[in-house]
Amino acid sequence: MSITYKSTRGGEQNVPASLAILKGLAQDGGLFVPDTIPAFDKSLKEYAAMDYKQLAYEIMKLYFTDFTKEELENCINRAYDTKFDTEEIAPLVEADGAYYLELFHGATIAFKDMALSILPHLMTTSAKKNGTKNEIVILTATSGDTGKAALAGFADVEGTRIVVFYPKNGVSPVQERQMVTQKGENTCVIGIHGNFDDAQTGVKNIFADKELAAYLEEKGFQFSSANSINIGRLIPQVVYYVYAYATLLKEGKIAENDTINVVVPTGNFGNILAAFYAKNMGLPIGKLICASNENKVLYDFFQDGCYDKNREFILTSSPSMDILISSNLERLIYWLAGNDAASNQAYMEQLKSAGKYEITPEMKDKLKDFVGGFASETETATKIKDLYDKTGYVIDTHTGVAAAAFGKYLENTKDTTPTVIASTASPFKFARSVMNAIDTKYDAMSDFELIDELSKVGNVSIPNAIEEIRNAPVRHKTVCEKEDMVAEIKKFLQV
Ligand SMILES: *Cc1c(COP(=O)(O)O)cnc(C)c1O
Repeated sequence: MSITYKSTRGGEQNVPASLAILKGLAQDGGLFVPDTIPAFDKSLKEYAAMDYKQLAYEIMKLYFTDFTKEELENCINRAYDTKFDTEEIAPLVEADGAYYLELFHGATIAFKDMALSILPHLMTTSAKKNGTKNEIVILTATSGDTGKAALAGFADVEGTRIVVFYPKNGVSPVQERQMVTQKGENTCVIGIHGNFDDAQTGVKNIFADKELAAYLEEKGFQFSSANSINIGRLIPQVVYYVYAYATLLKEGKIAENDTINVVVPTGNFGNILAAFYAKNMGLPIGKLICASNENKVLYDFFQDGCYDKNREFILTSSPSMDILISSNLERLIYWLAGNDAASNQAYMEQLKSAGKYEITPEMKDKLKDFVGGFASETETATKIKDLYDKTGYVIDTHTGVAAAAFGKYLENTKDTTPTVIASTASPFKFARSVMNAIDTKYDAMSDFELIDELSKVGNVSIPNAIEEIRNAPVRHKTVCEKEDMVAEIKKFLQV
């Protein structure tokens, strides 16, 4: 069966997967969604006999139907290789009655590697399929994690360049070191004097600049985005939910067709939406527990059907979830509205003008498989410590939010369904917060001392991604004013 993509705002239809990946966002500002969610064409038992790459092929072929088998397998083989430090790619670890799905074994030790390691290959393949001769220039503004994951994914990928802008004084020291030491002749990292919003607004303006686009076209370049709303990032994330289920089945922890629950620490709503897609394909998922930190817009939305971003923005120890506009939620709203683009568009306009919208009671009824959860900073730190004291297993702060929210859910419901918690970052990436949660005495240590200490207390070796930056030379030293972003891009492209 052939699947095509359409915009959630109605402006584009019948777009093949490769073109949707190349475009990222639809022209009308909507997000691309598949015209139907495909059903599994093999049994869960058959999936359980496959390794990660084979399974990735089986799932992605159902969505990317204009890719040949060879094209898709090539992309998969280049993505899920030795960049990951474990053969399983996404191992499942049992601790204190839950299954932690470790999504942080890729190049930058956070879950964004799961999709950003394959996106560059999907994109260059898509460019070829659509006869694009230009070199693709990925432009990204980052508050820390996405930038590095995109750099690692696109570094030295033929036919691509990548330019990342970050707020010079707005990322953590480890995050900055990770980016400015990035290897690859096609990479460019620039600090700007300003905050993340300045960087993001600058990038949005560059994307909207038609004159610049025409000039670059002449020189053989075109911009694209590695943003989390790209369908080429969403679909690869469906794979690991099926893989988690298949692993439980293979290990005899569940029987075929048993129901499991999933808990996902959520920001932009991409990761949990992938779990929802997996459920709709036929994966027996009961509850989708959406965990928020103190920026609990989504928790409130699941409570009363009102999405309201008008509130204080809180900086927490799980920064990748500090988000007030969850862009991928638009795909769910569209589905709740019965795939009605006009209705979805009206909600999105309300969000833009008033900062909030309220869905109808009928739409809210369709949300019954979702459970909103949240955890405060204290609840998260307590959970990290308790889990460590009880089992010796150390989780990061984002995963801590999920684990704490799950604990509260269990207290309320006494639900005994086997549960998979998406573990989205290595504790080494947020060593200071993690170690402080375990014992405040660690606060006096330097970042790298903390990392050595974490390795000792957690009895896990220090990931390559951290070892690499300890002594790596700084390759990217440019810092510019926000007015000079275009000039810096031209300098890098030598045009
Ligand atoms: C991006 C990120 C999240 C949030 O994922 P979404 O798909 O945006 O909901 C959670 N944890 C970590 C570590 C992340 O990097």
